Formats: sequence, structure tokens, C-alpha cells
Amino acid sequence: MSPVVNDEQIRPQTLDQFIGQDDLRANLRIYLDAAKNRKQHLDHALLYGNPGLGKTTLAQIMASELGVNIVSTSGPVLERSADLAAILTNLNKNDLLFIDEIHRMPASVEEILYPAMEDFNLDLIIGQGPGARTVKIELEPFTLVGATTRLGLLTSPLRDRFGVICRLEFYSPGELATIVKRSARVFKMEITEDGALEIGSRARGTPRIANRLLRRVRDFAQVAQTKVIDSQVASQALERMDVDSLGLDHMDRKILSCIVNQFSGGPVGVKTIAVACSEEVRTLEDIYEPYLIQCGFLKRTPRGRVVTARAYKHLKMMKKGMVALNMETLDKQ
Ligand code: ADP
Repeated sequence: MSPVVNDEQIRPQTLDQFIGQDDLRANLRIYLDAAKNRKQHLDHALLYGNPGLGKTTLAQIMASELGVNIVSTSGPVLERSADLAAILTNLNKNDLLFIDEIHRMPASVEEILYPAMEDFNLDLIIGQGPGARTVKIELEPFTLVGATTRLGLLTSPLRDRFGVICRLEFYSPGELATIVKRSARVFKMEITEDGALEIGSRARGTPRIANRLLRRVRDFAQVAQTKVIDSQVASQALERMDVDSLGLDHMDRKILSCIVNQFSGGPVGVKTIAVACSEEVRTLEDIYEPYLIQCGFLKRTPRGRVVTARAYKHLKMMKKGMVALNMETLDKQ
């Protein structure tokens, strides 16, 4: 029986193992080396980009390259300021505090973060009413690494307190193929160059999706008793999973065809699309739309979402196996 491989094992451990994002990586290398030379904490850093692009991975790499501990939490978990105060007072010198989804932190919690980030002080209010008093607690210097999928939702006082702001971009199919080959080595699987590229080109520019597709292709290959994953094995498995040549899945095509069929191609508001597709607005905005926009299939306009001529062309090509599509509407384009 092959050993169980979990997500942590396929996560790159060093900056050199981290594939792609070349400019960001080069800059980060300089900031990390400079902080190490000065034997000081790294400046607070904000990582933003779509889910699955490597924000958590980068935060862990930053901590291990600096040789410090990482304490991880996330915005929605920090309900009260006392939750954050407890974490901050337990940090050791130069530790790295990672807050995922930092844009979802309540305003009251965010406010105690300001003096902590700026002066490594915590201003706590003890008691209530006229007897309440403020206590100042000194903290050890630390690095805050915040991750967000929505830079625009961060308040400007919080954003301004980060010294380093890094944007993670979608990955090219070639970069994703390299990630797939690395993960395959960890899984002890054999994969050809074109097999990896087949998965990489259908992974929506996202390493998490590339690794997920690889796991599923492995399942298909295992059941079919295929030892080596080549492009044919990969593409057959991906087609069975309903992932098309550009990496769009059932839900992406449902969103596009819903706008085409029910709203004459748009413009239509995102809330209406969410109801029509039985999906949450946040999931549509964070998971599906960015890639559809990146492919040039969807436009965000002040009046709502509009499907582009390019999407109509792709949907026509993918007509087979797609949610019933009104070809009359398509043909008008
Ligand atoms: P995020 O925090 O942005 O949602 P993660 O850091 O959790 O994304 O990354 C998701 C998965 O993708 C991780 O398990 C990691 O193995 C893989 N991954 C992300 N970026 C890279 C990269 N640049 N190189 C190799 N693997 C990566």
C-alpha cells in the first residue's frame, strides 16, 4: 500500500521550491535576507490574490526562511479583541503571525492591531463604565503576514500599516506543469511532460486546483491500472470529471449559460446570477468570476455582468455535455 500523502507534504518548504511568481519571489528574497542580516523582524507583509495561489504557503516559507515560529489564525475566527490580545501577548521575539482572510476581521479587533503593528503595544480597556481604565502592554517585535482575496475590502488604515504588499498572479500552464511534476514525485507517481502539461493547462492558473486534478487523475489511472500518466490518460480522466480544455468546469459553464439563456447575455447583477445558479455571491465573486474574467469570458460593468463573444464561441465548442444552451441566442452573436 502506498503511504498517505497529505497537503502539507506537497507544500513547498523553501523559497527555491516555490514555483512561479518570479518578481515577487526575487523581492521577497531580498527582504528576508535583509531582515536576517539585521537580526530583526521582517516588516509586516500583506499577500493578496485568489484562493489557492500560495498565500499560506508563502507565509510558512517566510517563517522557515527566517527561522522563526509561525502562529496561524484567520479573520473570522477572531471574534473579540481579547482573542487577538491573547495571541499577540503569547508571541515570542520576531515570531510571524499569519492572519488568513484578514479582510473578515471585525472592526473592534482591527483597532487593537494598529498600535500592535506600529509600536508593538497593546492598549487594553479593563472594566466598564466610569471605572474603566486603559492598560498598555508591551509586545515582543513580531511580523504580521496578512492574506486576503479582496484587497479592496481592507480599510486603508490597516492597509497602510503593511510595509510589504505582494500580489499573487495566476500561474502559466508551464509553471503549473512544474508544480504537478513536483507533487507527482511526492506521490511517487510517474507522469510524462505532456501529461503534466495537460493537467497544468486545465488548472485555471491555480496550484491548489492543479494538485487536486492530479489526485483525481491518479485515481482514474490507478483503477485503470495505468502506471504512467501521459497526456491521453490525463485528458480522458479530466474529461470524465467534466473539466474542459480551458479548465472550466460544470459550474463555470452553468454561470455563463445562465447569463446567456436567462438574461440575454447580460448585463445582470451578481446577486441575480447567484440566485439563478444556487450559489453564494461570495463564492461567485472569489472563486468563479476571477478566472472567467481572466479568460476574457465575462466582463464586470457598472450595470452588471456581461458574457463576451469569446465565451459564446467557447460555449458553442463545448456544447456537447453542457447545460441546455439556447443556441438561438448564441447564433445571434
Ligand atoms: P492560498 O493560501 O493562497 O489559498 P495555499 O498556500 O494554501 O493557497 O496553496 C494551495 C496549495 O497549492 C498548497 O497545498 C501548495 O502545495 C500549492 N502551491 C501553492 N503555490 C505553490 C507554488 N508556487 N509552488 C508549488 N506549490 C504551490
